[in-house]
Amino acid sequence: MTAPRVAVIGGGLAGITAAIALAEAGAAVTLLEARPRLGGATCSFARDGLVVDTGQHIYLGCCTAYRGLLDTLGMTAHAPIQDRFDVTVLAPGPRSAGSGGTTPRSAGSGGTTPLTPRRGRLRRTALPGPLHMLPALGRYPFLSLAERASVARPALAMRRVDPAAPGVDEQRFGDWLAARGQSNRARRALWDLFTVSALNIAGDDASLSLAATVVKTGLLGQKNAADVGVPALPLGELQGDAAATLLAKLGAQVLLNAKVAAIDPAPAPAAPAPVPGAAAPDLAAHAPFPAATAPGPAPAALDLAHPVASADPAAPSCPRFRVRLARPVDPIDLADPAASSDAADATEIPADAVVLAVPHEAAARLIPPGALPEATVAGWAGLGASPIVNVHVIYDRPVLDLPFAAAIDSPVQWIFDRTRISGLNRLSTPASSASQSLQPNETGVSLRSSVVNPGFHYAADGAADSANAADGAHGAGDAAQRPQYLAISLSAADEYVDVPAATLREQLVPALAELLPAAREAQVIEFFVTRERRATFRQAPGTARLRPRAGTRLPGLVLAGAWTDTGWPDTMESAVRSGLAAAIELRHTVLSTGPAPSASDSSTTIGVGQ
Ligand SMILES: Cc1cc2nc3c(=O)[nH]c(=O)nc-3n(C[C@H](O)[C@H](O)[C@H](O)COP(=O)(O)OP(=O)(O)OC[C@H]3O[C@@H](n4cnc5c(N)ncnc54)[C@H](O)[C@@H]3O)c2cc1C
Repeated sequence: MTAPRVAVIGGGLAGITAAIALAEAGAAVTLLEARPRLGGATCSFARDGLVVDTGQHIYLGCCTAYRGLLDTLGMTAHAPIQDRFDVTVLAPGPRSAGSGGTTPRSAGSGGTTPLTPRRGRLRRTALPGPLHMLPALGRYPFLSLAERASVARPALAMRRVDPAAPGVDEQRFGDWLAARGQSNRARRALWDLFTVSALNIAGDDASLSLAATVVKTGLLGQKNAADVGVPALPLGELQGDAAATLLAKLGAQVLLNAKVAAIDPAPAPAAPAPVPGAAAPDLAAHAPFPAATAPGPAPAALDLAHPVASADPAAPSCPRFRVRLARPVDPIDLADPAASSDAADATEIPADAVVLAVPHEAAARLIPPGALPEATVAGWAGLGASPIVNVHVIYDRPVLDLPFAAAIDSPVQWIFDRTRISGLNRLSTPASSASQSLQPNETGVSLRSSVVNPGFHYAADGAADSANAADGAHGAGDAAQRPQYLAISLSAADEYVDVPAATLREQLVPALAELLPAAREAQVIEFFVTRERRATFRQAPGTARLRPRAGTRLPGLVLAGAWTDTGWPDTMESAVRSGLAAAIELRHTVLSTGPAPSASDSSTTIGVGQ
């Protein structure tokens, strides 16, 4: 029987997930990505020999679907997760006019001297959730005793909030917290730490429904649900390149620089149409893992162990869709140039099914008329966009002694040490560059994703690195001699996204010096900014009803993307869940299945629970 042809449009995590799931199930998958690389919003580029992620990403223990994808890609070890939620929170110390102490090189204004910054630590215990966070909250130094005691009230009340209940998504999280005794101080110094970065919107303005998902699943869920995972490889290698490799192994065709201009439904033999907006696929029903082993919502897995098959034996000559490209794909844009491709010089891809896995603005342009009610598609514009800005600062010496930290009472929100991941710790002095310049396979930049310019040199005092070189300030030996690369992640960055880099430097370098005393004496040797204007949709009240489910009125056309109705915030977890939901929807509708899988088929099952 001929394998059904599935075109997946969009090579972000949603499209990657759907493509892998369907290819593993035996579909003939073509993944079409407009850019020259896979990974979508999770991407890296080379800059003067450094590998830069456009935006620092983290995940939490409760992100079971995303962790399942990492596992499928063989990348779990390269995105390690804390063995216990542990976040250091920094705040500037009080200022003192003319007091002793070091005069900062760049910090301070008005003749005052910042004193020692304050540090708090939020570290969970081994107690079961939600008790696991209580001791840390009790000691949290940035709230008064009364404020700390008051946190119990919303925490208890939150357990009764159903994120999916009518009206919940219409409320602002800030109003809900205030009504439960949370002062402005408590909202800024505690709640914002979690919800601003998770929801990419000012904490008070977030949808209560999405905030409840974050708080209930992460903070009040199982004890390991909020443990933080941080990539140890550049995102381009961790996800985009790894996915391209796996898809090639699975026989899927990946076309890069392949911008889709239109999806034309072709006349096809009638098939029973799925009910648009019908119940979302029950991911839990496919779970191969006991629910108790995974934090948060039930773990999910795509039960596509057995091959999918075309429901229509005439399908090869009678595709349901023709996917039109904006221009022919150049053969060099094949992710696997060795693979021959009929599509290489074509502008049309015939497909029996299409997964449309692009951002909502692009989806609104591409979805064929009649696939969903016009008002539904027009409504997607209401999801809007919210920016994230990353500020990259390279010091001539270590200034941060932690892998990452959060900040309050400061324009800085979160800081990450990217010295090792960027390859900075491997860069040599100009004198030794010939033998020790950065090599692509040392940094995680593959030739597919970008080309490394090895001409970037920091004349660090120390000699070139050794294999076990210090990771910024966390290592031993001559770490003190090495430069350190910090990335400041600014979520809900409306006030920064249009600010020139020079102005951001004037604001943020002094702010870092207030938080990190070692930065007061250090020199900034590189400063640059990456801006993602449409990083996520604007996760405000009233957005839940605008997020569509996977199914459409057109049999064989499904939607995916972190913005679709997964119940999760616009995150990597949501993207992966949406890709799985799209594949399941196809499986339940136009792609019929073979015999029931046996236990031994498990090698071809994508498991997304951990
Ligand atoms: C700076 C930043 C920081 C973030 N931090 C985090 C974090 O810490 N943790 C977290 O979980 N999430 C984070 N996110 C959110 C997360 O990255 C996204 O939710 C997720 O990656 C979205 O995946 P997606 O596949 O739905 O969409 P995308 O990644 O946007 O992928 C869509 C793809 O479709 C392609 N496309 C568009 N139009 C066409 C067309 N016509 N033809 C072909 N292809 C097309 C695009 O090029 C793109 O590759 C962050 C996002 C940003 C930008």
